[in-house]
Amino acid sequence: MSAAALDIAAAVAAEREWMEQLLARLVAAETTLGNEEAGQALVAAAFADCGLEPLSVPLDAARLRADPHSSPFSWSVEGKRNVVATWDGRAGAEASGGGGGRGRSLILCGHIDVVPPASAALWTSPPFEPRVEGDWLYGRGGGDMKAGIVAMTGAIRALRRAGVELAGSVQLQSVVEEECTGNGALQCLLDGHTADACVLTEPHPDHLTVAQVGVLWFHVDVRGVPAHAARASTLGFNAIDATYTLLRALRELEAEANVAPPPPYDAFEHPINLNPGIVSGGDWASTVAAECTLSCRLGLYPGESPADARRRVEDTIARAAAADPLLRDHPPLVRYDGFACEGSVVDAGEPLVQELSAAYASVHGSAPRLEATTATTDARHYVRHGIPAVCFGPRAERIHGIDERVSLSSVAEVARVLAAFVPMWCGTVHTQER
Ligand SMILES: [Zn+2]
Repeated sequence: MSAAALDIAAAVAAEREWMEQLLARLVAAETTLGNEEAGQALVAAAFADCGLEPLSVPLDAARLRADPHSSPFSWSVEGKRNVVATWDGRAGAEASGGGGGRGRSLILCGHIDVVPPASAALWTSPPFEPRVEGDWLYGRGGGDMKAGIVAMTGAIRALRRAGVELAGSVQLQSVVEEECTGNGALQCLLDGHTADACVLTEPHPDHLTVAQVGVLWFHVDVRGVPAHAARASTLGFNAIDATYTLLRALRELEAEANVAPPPPYDAFEHPINLNPGIVSGGDWASTVAAECTLSCRLGLYPGESPADARRRVEDTIARAAAADPLLRDHPPLVRYDGFACEGSVVDAGEPLVQELSAAYASVHGSAPRLEATTATTDARHYVRHGIPAVCFGPRAERIHGIDERVSLSSVAEVARVLAAFVPMWCGTVHTQER
C-alpha cells in the first residue's frame, strides 16, 4: 500500500466513531414518507461537519409532474427537500489521476426515506430505537440506506481532514422519495446537479449493481354491491371476493413475465415479482363488501416502458373482469400513484465500473462481482441522463423486513473503498499531511 493509501485508510478509521454516532441518530429519525425532514436536518449538519455548505433542493410538484420520467403522486411534496453539498475540485489545476489530468466529477447519492416497519410488534426492539449488538446495528432504514449515507459522508470527511485536494468535484446528495417515486433524485437532475458518474451507496455489498428492473405501482379499485351477509349467496356482490379473482389473473401475468427472462435476468429463477402490498376494503363483517382496493408493485425488465406495463396490467384486469359475470357489470378501475419507472443497465466496460472495481480491489484484494438486481433504485435517473450510475454499499440484512440490521464494520469498509475511489476518479491536485 502506498503512503497516501495508508494515510487515507488511517483517516477513514479515525471517522469510525463519528460515522456510528451519525448512523444511530439517523435511524432514530423516523423518516417514513412525509417525515423525511428530521433526517435531512441531520444530514445537512453532517455535511456542514465535513466543512461543506449544505444546499436545499426543494421538491417542485409542478416541475416534477411536467417531466415525463417522474412518477405520479397524490400527496403533497410541499416542504420536502433533498440536501446536497459540493466539494469543489480545482478544475484547471495540474492533477494526477482523474481520467487524464482533467479531473472528473462524481455524485455520491443516498436516500433518506425509509419504508414503514411492516409490523412494529414483531421487532425484537422498537424499529426506530437503534440497538447495537456485536457488529450489527438494528433499526428500520439502518441498512436501506442510512448506513450508505453515513459511509459516503464519512469517506468525504476523512479525505478532507487528510488534506486531500481534488481536481474534479464531488457532490454528496441525500434525496427523498426513493422508496415510492424516485422523484427526489429526479429533482436533483432537473435542478442541474449532474456529474460524470454516480455511486449510490445502497446496501449492495461485495458487488457493484450494474442492472436493475423498473417498477410500476398500480391500484385497482373494485366496486361490489352491499347487502346483508345473511343473504350474500343470493343478494349483493362482494368486492373482496372479486378482488381475489383479479389477483389470480395478475398472478398469471406475473408467471408469463418469468417464462423467458432476457439477459442478464435469465440468471434469476423468478426476476419479475408482482407484490400485492396493500388490500383494503369493506366496513362491516356482516355486510357484503361494497369496495376493495388492491395496491400492487410489479417489476419490469430494462427496455420495457412503464406505459407498456400499464397496458399489460389494464388488459389483464379488463379480460378477467369481462370473464366474470358480476365483475362484467362493475368494471374495476386501475389507478396509478407512485413508481412508474423503467429499468436500467450500465455497461461493464464503463470507466466508473472499472475504476470503482479497482478501488474495491485495493482494499479487499479482489474485484467485486458485477450483478443485476430485481429491485429498482434511483440509479435509473442518472443513467437516463447519460450519467453512469452503480450501487455499492454496506452489508445489510432483512431490509423491508423485521429486525433490519447493518454491519458496522462494512460501513467502515465501504467508506475506505469510496475514499480510495474518489481521488482516483476526480484526480488529486496535491496531498498534504495534516
Ligand atoms: Zn434503498
